[in-house]
Amino acid sequence: MAAKEFKKYKIVAEKLIKEKITHFNNFYHFTFNKIFIKNQKRRWGSCSSKKNLNFNYKIIFLKQELSNYIIVHELCHLKEMNHSKRFWKLVSQTVKNYKKLNKILKKTVIS
Ligand SMILES: [Zn+2]
Repeated sequence: MAAKEFKKYKIVAEKLIKEKITHFNNFYHFTFNKIFIKNQKRRWGSCSSKKNLNFNYKIIFLKQELSNYIIVHELCHLKEMNHSKRFWKLVSQTVKNYKKLNKILKKTVIS
């Protein structure tokens, strides 16, 4: 079932995620390599040392402010591969209430 659902929503997710990346990177101007849409159980998104961005297709089912936050979070890892003060400062430039959203997201189970 999960695989079938993934197939169904992958294209939708890819379109939405790319639009959001374009939107936010219009502000940040970070360089990245590829975008991958994944079907994962534990992660909403990640950023690799090769500057590839990975996102869980299920972010399309989240509230917009949460999916926006996930996109911005991973985008900022292109610049800061850690969760330092500098990293959060970058995030806060486009997502002011990131602390609240981060808390909500930690409680949001990927089903
Ligand atoms: Zn992170």
